Amino acid sequence: MAPVDPHSFTESTQPATTHIALTLYFDFPSSTIHASALFTLQTPHSGPFFLDTRSLTIHSALHADQAIPFSLSATSDPIKGTLLTLTLSNHSSFILTFSTSPSSSALQWLLPPQTCNKTHPYVYTQCQAIHARSIFPSHDTPARRIRYSAILNIPSELSAVMAANHVTRRPPRDDDAPALASLNLNWCSQDRVVEEFVMEQPVPPYLFAFAVGQLGNREVGPRTRVYAEEGSAVLDSAAKEFEGTEEMIREGEKLFGEYDWERFDLLVLPPSFPYGGMENPKMVFLTPTVIKGDGSGAQVVAHELAHSWTGNLITNKTNEHFWLNEGFTTYAERRIVEAVQGEKRATLNVGIGWRGLNEEVERFKDNLEFTKLKNNQQGIDPDDVYSQVPYEKGFQFLFRIERQVGRSAFDEFLKKYIAKFKFQSIDTDTFLDFLKENIPGIEKQIDLVLWTEGTGIPSDAYEPELIVYKTIVSLANEAATGRMPGEDEVADWQGQEWELYLDNLPKSIEASQIVALDSRHKLSESKDYEVKVSFLQRAILCGCKEYYGEVEKTLKAVGRMKYLRPLYTALVKGSEEDKVFAKRVFSEARECYHPIAQSVVVSIFSKHM
Ligand SMILES: [Zn+2]
Repeated sequence: MAPVDPHSFTESTQPATTHIALTLYFDFPSSTIHASALFTLQTPHSGPFFLDTRSLTIHSALHADQAIPFSLSATSDPIKGTLLTLTLSNHSSFILTFSTSPSSSALQWLLPPQTCNKTHPYVYTQCQAIHARSIFPSHDTPARRIRYSAILNIPSELSAVMAANHVTRRPPRDDDAPALASLNLNWCSQDRVVEEFVMEQPVPPYLFAFAVGQLGNREVGPRTRVYAEEGSAVLDSAAKEFEGTEEMIREGEKLFGEYDWERFDLLVLPPSFPYGGMENPKMVFLTPTVIKGDGSGAQVVAHELAHSWTGNLITNKTNEHFWLNEGFTTYAERRIVEAVQGEKRATLNVGIGWRGLNEEVERFKDNLEFTKLKNNQQGIDPDDVYSQVPYEKGFQFLFRIERQVGRSAFDEFLKKYIAKFKFQSIDTDTFLDFLKENIPGIEKQIDLVLWTEGTGIPSDAYEPELIVYKTIVSLANEAATGRMPGEDEVADWQGQEWELYLDNLPKSIEASQIVALDSRHKLSESKDYEVKVSFLQRAILCGCKEYYGEVEKTLKAVGRMKYLRPLYTALVKGSEEDKVFAKRVFSEARECYHPIAQSVVVSIFSKHM
């Protein structure tokens, strides 16, 4: 017996689950889902059968109305959760009934005041990295793919979306959920409705996703609708921001081959959503902070779109090879941005990423393992070591190969790579073997071992050379001598230019310079959160107390970890007063954060306080 993934109890000797048929009853008042799941296994199995769970209550395990013995481990692993062991007797299918807990790490239940339209409750999932197990028992590892169907019983004034094909919305029927009969749910009540979905393509469990709320939608392309809360201003502005989506899908297809998921719909979530975007297939989840009104939100969409090939089609086997998902996707995102918005935008992205990579290498200076592309995550919670390294060092590695072999040869290689490994989960060595086979001699031109197993940033990585990039970086460096940019120099700057400028400001900059910069350019009030948060982080580091009101407002308005991390980190590294301030704001804001974001802030606090 051998576990297939350091983050899962899944055993290599036990059969895979090929299909799960889920029946889910949403009880909003208790923030609970009561559910059943019919599992179909690849082959019949006898003996112990392991599944991952976290904070689930298991009511029964049945095969053709016969009870199957099961037990939950007496203690929970802080990372993997609780092991569910079934004792099977030549079974190839079984039904589990279970309930989620209000503290399910994948789910955020929002009361009406926490949503955009303030009138209806909302619930949504975030299953990456290892949270699907807190919704249903599963082999919660990207090494195992599943197909599934789902019947969601929800209040009739709400509607549901899933990362799956929508089949129908209809009144509930008595025979929908026989396995749930013993739980005495009001399944067929007048004020309930059923939404049915089916996912025919096999996906890793971290791509399981749904959202339930008062949702509306707008058509923005032949295969794209934008969803957001009905009646909120977000819906119209999102439809406008993402009107260029079809053009990006066509660019993606040119680069990687046909789009394999039929629909590419977008769901804009309430501001508590912890990520910029999540590449849930057929239904990408997005933070509302990407809507900036200038089309720049398209970059996040380009990223999530690129995952349709790298990540969703070819998946990292475990989180130790996460760069195979994110490095490729960052590379592809920039190629799509370059094609649609031009080289300047793409290069500024590379520059912002370059800065970010250098900062992350600094962040991990006492734990260099996590500056490696391929790393060891035994006993490590993937959410704790989430960083830009797999994204930006992965991008750098692929761009290094592109520069070596030339763009057209690399494009040919990419198409071949996707075609060869689609719908598979692979590791770094599989990629390297395929690379060496298809680009003979590459290992003599690039130190592949240094790139994938070495720490830090290899010396043949690439810092952009474009004039616009260099000009901004040297302007930022000049702040050390007191020189601030003039009106004419920043006249055509957009969010990215400001972000790059702020990120490159020297550490020695004085508080008075920060204040002067803001009084001239109103950065603390920017509608672009990248700019606003970069500025506020600087303001905290310089001890500019006049901005703490804005810091508090920001920490209470959004739950995106990209903003929470730098602001809370800057505060807890500061004075005693800053620490007290951080603790108070978190205690008042935490209910508005997704459980994943809450635990990330808790771990920042425990590291520095
Ligand atoms: Zn990504």
